[in-house]
Amino acid sequence: MKHLSKSYKQEKPSGKFDAIIIGSGLGGMSTAAFLSKEGRRVLVLERHYTPGGFTHVFRRKEYEWDVGVHYVGDVHRPYTMMAKMFNYVTDGSLQWEEMGEVYDKIFFGKEMYEYRKGEEAFSKRMKEYFPAPEDQKAIDDYLKLVRITQKQNANGYGNIILRGPLKWLLGGWLRRNSLKNNKTTLEVLRSLTKNEKLIAVLTGQFGDYGLPPSQSSFIMHATLFKHYLNGGNYPVGGSARIYESVAPVVLNAGGEVYTNAEVKEIIVKNNKAVGVKMFDGDEYYAPIVISSAGIITTYNTLLPNNETKSKVQNQLQQVQPSVAHVCLYVGLNHSKQSLGLGKANYWIYPSYNHDKNIKDYLENPDAELPVVYVSFPAAKDPDWENRHPNHSTIEIITLAPYEWFSQWENNRWMKRGEDYNALKEKIAQRLLNKLYEYEPSLKGKVDYYELSTPLSTRHFVNYQCGEIYGIDHSTSRFALDFLKPETPIENLYLTGQDTVTCGVGGALASGMFTASVVTKKNLMKKVK
Ligand SMILES: Cc1cc2nc3c(=O)[nH]c(=O)nc-3n(C[C@H](O)[C@H](O)[C@H](O)COP(=O)(O)OP(=O)(O)OC[C@H]3O[C@@H](n4cnc5c(N)ncnc54)[C@H](O)[C@@H]3O)c2cc1C
Repeated sequence: MKHLSKSYKQEKPSGKFDAIIIGSGLGGMSTAAFLSKEGRRVLVLERHYTPGGFTHVFRRKEYEWDVGVHYVGDVHRPYTMMAKMFNYVTDGSLQWEEMGEVYDKIFFGKEMYEYRKGEEAFSKRMKEYFPAPEDQKAIDDYLKLVRITQKQNANGYGNIILRGPLKWLLGGWLRRNSLKNNKTTLEVLRSLTKNEKLIAVLTGQFGDYGLPPSQSSFIMHATLFKHYLNGGNYPVGGSARIYESVAPVVLNAGGEVYTNAEVKEIIVKNNKAVGVKMFDGDEYYAPIVISSAGIITTYNTLLPNNETKSKVQNQLQQVQPSVAHVCLYVGLNHSKQSLGLGKANYWIYPSYNHDKNIKDYLENPDAELPVVYVSFPAAKDPDWENRHPNHSTIEIITLAPYEWFSQWENNRWMKRGEDYNALKEKIAQRLLNKLYEYEPSLKGKVDYYELSTPLSTRHFVNYQCGEIYGIDHSTSRFALDFLKPETPIENLYLTGQDTVTCGVGGALASGMFTASVVTKKNLMKKVK
């Protein structure tokens, strides 16, 4: 990895850059790659000591875990935009492994529902679970509405890259059309069926965007559900391969990526972004500054505290951070074969009412965990045994509000005290017990575990409330017209998940949109 980025502690950037990009997550790197292919020399500044944002991995002993990539849709179908964009920004160097016929298993207590790959197989399986004629019709209606809504949303993004008369003619219509189903997921599903059990099963992936059915926009739900409908995929070699595949495209064009390089402030003169100031006081200048640090972090902490900030106050007041999470990173000193680990993710729920599950838990942290997500990276990665023979890892996630941990926010990482460690241990045991409930044969085989909290997300990826998915995906988010590359400050652009949606796909697409706006070209045309 060393040769694909430099440490700012050891070396400083030099020479002229066409653009400075804050953050090396996929949003920042995709933007950097698109610009590099247009002949621009970019400087990517990353505050973490490892590049990649949520696509980075971390290691302890013999183990390796993903932080924010468990599965990605559509990359295995070469004609999809997702596959084409990945090919473009990596020069085709990233390989994907399919997760097989079943990509998600949704559990309600002991009852399990499989999400099967492909619309036909999915529909068939759901109709086996729900054979009543009215449920079968609801499943058909649901799949049709998902297709329409996802398409309208995708077309709506065209508004970002259209220029001149075309934008004038089509832009407004595309956007209005994309918002036709901007209702809550629950509202839409209740218009299709009265069967609350069916609704709970169809929203069994809500953790992928973080909001329960009564709060999420159906646009997000449909986009996410459709993204995985043709199956899940995992990057061969683990999620670190994403950064490793994009970085050469940037470096080969003369660009540079620095880790340990925390931007303190965006330098703004006469309402124009002209460069960035680092924590060590050094300043770097470029005609374009692009932030992938998220709209809240960018506007709240990176803009100078003068009249510039007042220009974005109105926007800031309209966005909400998404939920925060805890993740238990588990290591087992056995091979995936001997443990019998499968590729499908588990979604475990205490009852068929997601909204009530969440409400009860927020009111009482000792209530049943409202959602437990389990991922088996060792099983998904065909290259795993080459890197970690006779070892396996598992990731177990649940939601946890930042406020439950905020009292320790000023303590140093790994030195947050006994009471913090005790709380972590309590949560870790709850998550392990949930795992053993569904995989009893793993009991006694766990060699290592470590829990991340919202403070870890804040510490490593700089989301101030430990938010998992940038800003939340409510109906009000989709109605906002300022979540786009342009900002009220000239030459300052946003990129990353907040400008499209959360997810690796959203971050990847954001790079194409932001680079299109910066270069004033429709770069979608180049992604063939
Ligand atoms: C637990 C979890 C599981 C997930 N699972 C999946 C999944 O299975 N599939 C999927 O598609 N998506 C998943 N996601 C979502 C996906 O990972 C993200 O939506 C996406 O990676 C966000 O990319 P980004 O570039 O917008 O932001 P990030 O990856 O967050 O990148 C932003 C970068 O900016 C840097 N930065 C911030 N401030 C500064 C500063 N001042 N100076 C320099 N650098 C700065 C940060 O350190 C970070 O590296 C998951 C996310 C999480 C948290």
